[in-house]
Amino acid sequence: MAAAASATSLFQSALIPSSGSHFIFCCQFWNLLKLVSTPSTTPALFGGGLLGYVMYDATHYYLHHAQPTSEVPRNLKKYHFNHHFRIQNQSFGITSSFWDKVFGTLPQSKAAAKSI
Ligand SMILES: [Zn+2]
Repeated sequence: MAAAASATSLFQSALIPSSGSHFIFCCQFWNLLKLVSTPSTTPALFGGGLLGYVMYDATHYYLHHAQPTSEVPRNLKKYHFNHHFRIQNQSFGITSSFWDKVFGTLPQSKAAAKSI
């Protein structure tokens, strides 16, 4: 039981990084943005990037811990759990499958796999 609780806590800490790693990430992100943008646009880009990251992280947490009843989040959860528990080298997208389509890591459907 203790081992299971420990594994769960390790998994949850991987989903939600510590505040120390958030701070380091934010500093590096801010410095990167300062290199590629003007001083007046850096805060706006930083805020947008931070909001995007928080939404991504919240979606990831939701997919792991919630029991969605509507179709879209239920399909996202199934898609993401396929990545974790069935086909780890595909389905990298968490909030959408867009980049999996771009990079060719979209898993084949069962119907397509049977037709080959
Ligand atoms: Zn996950």
